[in-house]
Amino acid sequence: MVVVLENNISDSDKSKVRTFLESKGFKVREIVGEQDTIFGAVGSVSIDKREIELLKGVEKVVPIHKPYKLASRELKKEDTVFSVGPVKIGGNRLVVIAGPCAVESREQIIESAIAAKEAGAVMLRGGAFKPRTSPYSFQGLGKEGLEYLREAGKLTGLPVVTEVVAPGDVEMMKEYIDVYQIGARNMQNFELLKTVGSMGMPVILKRGMSATIEEWLMAAEYLLASGTEKILLCERGIRTYEPYTRNTLDLSAIPIIRKLSHLPIIVDPSHATGLRDKVLPMALAAVAAGANGLIIEMHPDPDNAMSDGPQSLYPEQLEKLICDIEALSPVVGKELARIPHINEKEAIEKNLRDSGSSLKAAFQGKPGAYSEKAIMLHFHEDEVTAVPCESFKDVFDAVLKGDVQWGVVPIENSLAGSILENYDLLSLNPDVKIVGEVKVRIRHNLIALKGVSLKDINKVYSHPQALAQCADYLKKHNIEPVTYYDTAGAVANLKSFEDKHCGAIGSAEAADLYGMTILKEGIETNPNNYTRFVVIVREDFITVDNPVKASVILTVSDEPGALSQCLSIFADHKLNMTKLESRPIHGKPWSYKFYIDIQIPFDKDQYKEALEAIKEKASDFRILGEY
Ligand code: PEP
Ligand code: MN
Repeated sequence: MVVVLENNISDSDKSKVRTFLESKGFKVREIVGEQDTIFGAVGSVSIDKREIELLKGVEKVVPIHKPYKLASRELKKEDTVFSVGPVKIGGNRLVVIAGPCAVESREQIIESAIAAKEAGAVMLRGGAFKPRTSPYSFQGLGKEGLEYLREAGKLTGLPVVTEVVAPGDVEMMKEYIDVYQIGARNMQNFELLKTVGSMGMPVILKRGMSATIEEWLMAAEYLLASGTEKILLCERGIRTYEPYTRNTLDLSAIPIIRKLSHLPIIVDPSHATGLRDKVLPMALAAVAAGANGLIIEMHPDPDNAMSDGPQSLYPEQLEKLICDIEALSPVVGKELARIPHINEKEAIEKNLRDSGSSLKAAFQGKPGAYSEKAIMLHFHEDEVTAVPCESFKDVFDAVLKGDVQWGVVPIENSLAGSILENYDLLSLNPDVKIVGEVKVRIRHNLIALKGVSLKDINKVYSHPQALAQCADYLKKHNIEPVTYYDTAGAVANLKSFEDKHCGAIGSAEAADLYGMTILKEGIETNPNNYTRFVVIVREDFITVDNPVKASVILTVSDEPGALSQCLSIFADHKLNMTKLESRPIHGKPWSYKFYIDIQIPFDKDQYKEALEAIKEKASDFRILGEY
């Protein structure tokens, strides 16, 4: 059952409630949520709930009706989010775990790890103990495989996951791995679940090939009850009458699990389909259905793999898949997790050492602005406080003065192009650097006071860009656009007008925050509306380990071919340029500086050499950030 505690309960009353529950034979777990603090109390004890409700500091007692208790949303409303090394799992993040079915040799797993990392995966998989259907098939390298896996993980900075098949191996494996995997064949091996759960380490729990969703959640309950909360459920296909694919991927399990449980769910399209060419479409479908991540088999040489070659992707296929997922993730309100994204742990620790104060990220606009949404996507809600600022310059100033640790500013919109003011601010502030980026899908909503209907509205307020992006809808409904300096501000102001003939265009979050109603969702003419934000910090705040992208700024001399010579340096070093933007130099009419984004390869030598060569050639050169 869920024991909801009063907001102002004292520590001593809280411990009395806990002691009481424990004395009755319950196992008690405290869960601190956004709204309230609760005790989850489980056990096969029958008690009149009024006995507990009478205790001081208890607000109410809610029974959990499902057979799984600790795994249920009834117990915990917020998504479970946990870290595996630098990788955050759950909530708004999409993680891609990749690697071969089995560790075959030191060279093979190192090659796989580098390919996985280069493609954008954030964790490495590889089996050392393989539960094979035939006793004559390759059974894995055992402990030797674990050693190679650990070496490959260390080399690339990727946390590693591997399957555990016997309770007796659990303790030994702990030194080598970051995540235990419980395979489909062992989902109901309760001794294994109990032993793995007692380690308190992260676990991927695969769905058994004939397990119902409830049986699967009961298996998760074993892990939770034995001591770990870091569980990642994995849908890997179930057995049906259809022989075309190895299993049938049960995509509907994703929204079902997300409704029933707070635990994150990932999908394994490799074992689900058994066919390499079916992996990409099923992976995209899983993301569209709301999965928190994917685990994909990829092999440097799938044609000669010792197990599951036909379902293993070639490294370049994994790269394409991750690119496609990155494009899809903002559509479903998620962000692809990247290892080099701000090492938030490091930053948090540093900040606590330096100031002892809470972490803040500044954005331009009023609460409910799209920039605030970018902060919530990039960080986890309880990690930072979003601080509203009037202008983009104020965001930069807040970062420079140390009032906030981070700033998040828009840099480019997929329809309207670059936000030039922020390019200029980056160039003018050498003590600020970029440490990350985040893409947000912009969905405009027609918002009004509660009780108002569409036919009452004849005027809407919003930022000029939002009005332009919704022009077709406004015209069709004969609504007059009126400009306002920001979208969330327009929504906030509706309240003060109290005019039921006025509406505003803004985010769903703004409507919610200011107690408004959404008359129509998604009124933008073109739904392909995304904004890319950059995350900025003070130059000396944190550095990003293993960056994959660099933003640089340079000026070239005013002579024929000067820009082309600079750009050919990137081409000569096989570096991929993803953006080029030119801006006039203030005070020097008709001279320009260039902003360039480049992908940084795993092997940094080429990149470093290219930078040296560019520094020689360009008259002014600065790295805006490596992230
Ligand atoms: C695996 O991931 O290598 C594996 C054996 O998967 P499953 O347990 O889903 O069959
Ligand atoms: Mn496999």
